[in-house]
Amino acid sequence: MAEINKAPRGTNDVLPEDSYKWQFVEQKLTETAGLYGFKEIRVPVFEHTEVFTKNVGDTTDVVQKEMYTFTDKGDRSITLRPEFTAGVIRSVIENSLTAAALPVKVCYHGGCYRYEKPQAGRLREFHQFGAECVGAASPAADAEIIAMANQLLKDVGIRKISLEINSIGCPECRKVYHSALKKYFEGNKDELCATCRDRLERNPMRILDCKSPICADIAKSAPNVTDYLCEDCDNHFKAVQAHLTAMDINFKVNPRIVRGLDYYTRTVFEFISGDIGAQATVCGGGRYDGLLEQMGGQPQPALGFAMGIERLLMVLESQNAELPEPKKCDLYIAPMGEVAAIKASVICSSLRDEGFEALTDIVGRGLKAQMRYANKIGAAYTVVLGDSELESGLVRLKCMETGGETETELDMLSDTLYNAKILDFVDRINIENENRPF
Ligand code: ATP
Ligand code: MG
Repeated sequence: MAEINKAPRGTNDVLPEDSYKWQFVEQKLTETAGLYGFKEIRVPVFEHTEVFTKNVGDTTDVVQKEMYTFTDKGDRSITLRPEFTAGVIRSVIENSLTAAALPVKVCYHGGCYRYEKPQAGRLREFHQFGAECVGAASPAADAEIIAMANQLLKDVGIRKISLEINSIGCPECRKVYHSALKKYFEGNKDELCATCRDRLERNPMRILDCKSPICADIAKSAPNVTDYLCEDCDNHFKAVQAHLTAMDINFKVNPRIVRGLDYYTRTVFEFISGDIGAQATVCGGGRYDGLLEQMGGQPQPALGFAMGIERLLMVLESQNAELPEPKKCDLYIAPMGEVAAIKASVICSSLRDEGFEALTDIVGRGLKAQMRYANKIGAAYTVVLGDSELESGLVRLKCMETGGETETELDMLSDTLYNAKILDFVDRINIENENRPF
């Protein structure tokens, strides 16, 4: 029987002590994508199953092995999104977003669901941030989206990551490549896994993406797609590289990158980290010029990428990146007695109106226990509110870090707190400057 007090295998809770990292990363990514003109889109967590089977590709690992599919009470086959692109493009078509100015630029973040073998960096519920750009065919678009992914990773604080790119051609040159691959793998047919033996007939390029060590070993000497590109695809790929070089973005051409999903054409890319073990791809993407037409929309060139937020956070952690400190309580008011408790609630609410995190006792603790609590939650300042303070209208604002106290009128508490925070901030900068070696 399932253990009901445990989260399902392959899922993680993000606890309050860590959620600030997620908020920072999601906000920063959305903000930087905004600088490139991307606006957020929100799509359902589930779609009709065909959205994925038809478009992600029925010979891919995702569709063949990993989807959470169920029949709903209306007898429809529904699937929890294993990725966003298919659902986002479904929405772009359904809502005629391409009728407005092209290119359409959208970004998103949220949970994805894949029935995988859970391990470090591989979960059953994981989270992606991604972007899709519809209506741009030129190599400048490929370069821009790669540059954006590169900047996103940099802006959240990743210092070192490598970029690998490839071109997997168009349906025309891919035909030739497929037959070369087929010929190659037929020589090793008996050693391939059962899934890949089936792929050999239907989509031999998928074998290059197989995670089985035997298939991966055989794939090592398979022909390279870059040797089979038609002239247009070859020129496109060269132009993308020229753009990247001009923008000073380091990359390596890796002809083995084919990406796990069927809809890609031409440029594909991955950002890979050496800091997080075997599941090293933090971000993957590419061009998918055929997808809109395949999904019943007007043909439009398109491209995008998705990054795994868990893997991204793992990289940040292993590189000891400094994330902005989570916000803490600005002021804890410790009331003594019932009248003071009511007054404390009133003061707290007006401080909150001014943007301060202000807390007071809602447990019924004595003064000592309240101060211990204020310490535990890291309150920056405290005020004790007893009969004499209520009578005189004066309180002592105590800085918990230094122990220093300032007397202030209750009515002026918010101004004094504001000034104290500024002075404190200036003090801290001065101390930091004094400690600098130069
Ligand atoms: P992999 O080769 O690691 O299986 P993939 O090709 O299946 O990756 P994509 O479908 O391109 O991955 O998804 C984009 C990104 O989402 C990945 O680069 C990775 O960072 C993240 N990702 C994919 N699957 C998982 C998972 N099961 N758990 C955590 N992150 C994942
Ligand atoms: Mg995968």
